[in-house]
Amino acid sequence: MNKLIYFFLVIMLGLFIIYVFRNEEVDVSNDNINSLNFNYENTLILAELENELVAQKKHHIHIESNEAQDYTTLFPDLYTVYDVPDSMDKGRRIAYLTFDDGPSSNTFEILDILDEMNVSATFFIVGSAITKEGEGALRRIVNEGHTIGIHSYSHLCNEIYCSVERFLNDYNMVYQQIYDITGKRANIYRFPWGSNNSYSKGIKDDLINEMERRGFACYDWNVDSNDSVGRPTEYSIRRNVEKDLETRDYPIVLMHDSGNNKLTVKTLPGIIKIIRDKGYEFDTLDNREPYLFEW
Ligand SMILES: [Zn+2]
Repeated sequence: MNKLIYFFLVIMLGLFIIYVFRNEEVDVSNDNINSLNFNYENTLILAELENELVAQKKHHIHIESNEAQDYTTLFPDLYTVYDVPDSMDKGRRIAYLTFDDGPSSNTFEILDILDEMNVSATFFIVGSAITKEGEGALRRIVNEGHTIGIHSYSHLCNEIYCSVERFLNDYNMVYQQIYDITGKRANIYRFPWGSNNSYSKGIKDDLINEMERRGFACYDWNVDSNDSVGRPTEYSIRRNVEKDLETRDYPIVLMHDSGNNKLTVKTLPGIIKIIRDKGYEFDTLDNREPYLFEW
């Protein structure tokens, strides 16, 4: 009898084990179904996310394009008045000395030379270079009959050329500085690396148009002294000016008055003499019509 009960129990246990295993199989297959559902839901969620991202991107582009349109409403004080001069019609030989990247201690020495030799020139100012001492240089530039132009506040390509807004923001800072220090509203400017540089390619036309709309006149150069490139010598600087001077109409000579340009100061009297001996007068750039690179 006991054996019979024992046999019965073993059969029951066997059936129970079969039942459990079969359920597990069902569970496993349910898992698969769940996982399939999950993947399906995931796909839906991913699709929704993707749609959302596309929508956000469109919104972002919309905001950006709004910003691009709105730069005309930014910086309401960044406006000036520029009248195109007529002094070029008189058939005179006129040269324009220009100094970029100052003020520095060299600016004072350049101003002394210009004063001694009775020459007027133009200075394109970098706002971040203006020290307390430099403020005195700016006031001297104005008081001694020279012209101040804007060159930028930071002179950093990744600061000024990433958007029109950033460019205007940078120029607005130096424009206000110059006004606060000298009482003059600058109305001419020069792009760092000139108007045709590789950094501003995508926004160049917008920049020029917007600055023109605000009243500013732009000036590149057509005679490069190369006083800030490579390892210039007094001879190379003089030679660079001399070789191009008479091939240009109303030559605009590019030089620099940053702290590194000691050699420019040293060479300047000789350069003035060369230009004067060729029959040129000197004037400030605001008396010349605006000039952009022809290439
Ligand atoms: Zn510069």
